[in-house]
Amino acid sequence: MPEIETVRINWLNSIFLIATPILAITGIILHWIYFNPPGFLELVVFLSLYFACGLSITVGYHRLFSHRSHNAKWPLVLFYAIFGAGSFQNSIIEWCSDHRKHHKMTDTENDPYSVTRGFWYSHIGWILLEEQNFSNDFSNVKDLQQSKIIMWQHRNIFLIGALSGLVLPAAIGLLFGGITGAVGCFVWSGLARVVFVHHGTFLINSAAHIWGTQPYSEEDSSRDSFWLAFLTFGEGYHNFHHTFQADYRNGHKWYHIDPSKWWIKSFKIIGLNSNLKSTPKHSIEVAKVNMKFKKSAEKLLRRNISIHKFEDRLVNCRDQLRSYMYEIQKAKQELKKKAVESKLAVKSKIEKLKISAKSTRNDLRQLFKDMKYEYRHTKMVA
Ligand SMILES: [Zn+2]
Ligand SMILES: [Zn+2]
Repeated sequence: MPEIETVRINWLNSIFLIATPILAITGIILHWIYFNPPGFLELVVFLSLYFACGLSITVGYHRLFSHRSHNAKWPLVLFYAIFGAGSFQNSIIEWCSDHRKHHKMTDTENDPYSVTRGFWYSHIGWILLEEQNFSNDFSNVKDLQQSKIIMWQHRNIFLIGALSGLVLPAAIGLLFGGITGAVGCFVWSGLARVVFVHHGTFLINSAAHIWGTQPYSEEDSSRDSFWLAFLTFGEGYHNFHHTFQADYRNGHKWYHIDPSKWWIKSFKIIGLNSNLKSTPKHSIEVAKVNMKFKKSAEKLLRRNISIHKFEDRLVNCRDQLRSYMYEIQKAKQELKKKAVESKLAVKSKIEKLKISAKSTRNDLRQLFKDMKYEYRHTKMVA
């Protein structure tokens, strides 16, 4: 545990985190009474900013900058820098430095938001308090310091955050709904939205290390939870994420609710994302088999039943499964390659046939020209 005298209150964070929910609730009530109940304008601006800011944290701050799970072109980096600032979760540099420490030192005293210190500490307490041993030297985010956009955001974090997170929704509200719209959008899409995105992220540091399943590893306290994934743009598959942290997905199955994964994939299609890293299927399967065996073995051992005879069978089956799955994956890639090759061959055949048809058409044109000439010529002689 860190020394008690190194702990002091971070007043800026504390005032902001306590004031935003109070101001949001007061604002919602006053807007409702003195202007209008929230309408279509407030809903659209709220959802747009909720997604823009939320995804800037989950895709930008988390999967792209902290874990380098894919590459993104500068327009996306700029988008994440602007709307990530509007989430008021500090700069990319600060956030990623903490997060890389969290992964490296999970559940230890050097984990900035270690759940071993309780739900509230990992949820919000670590932000309200300032501990000397967690002051960042940023030596673990040197790669990020090479980016001009990221450093610009770091230097101007509060200004960018205030403009994109508070002034922008109020300005859109003013443009489309006058003063009523400006106040409504400021309260809902500014203040209330900040609170929603904050606690979504905080739940990953707290709840996703307490409640849920551990299908891939028990190395640390991380858990998978569908409900959290639903609330946090897919970040709730946290056990998978801690086990395979370079993967651009947190929900690796197609039916896992992971909007961050869908966002990354969609921008790959239009060329703004590339080099998406994903864990091979056989590695995921092996991790799951190992965990299942560990849990079953523990049950048997509790009844003093030897697991020795099962261990050899596990190794055999697991190794076979790994190699079959690897071969299937390889064969699938080969099939894809062959399909591309045969497609190219058919395409070139079509091109050749088209050239031949064109030349035959020219011959025909010449034939009719010659016939016409012959006809005219014969008429003139007659
Ligand atoms: Zn992470
Ligand atoms: Zn975690």
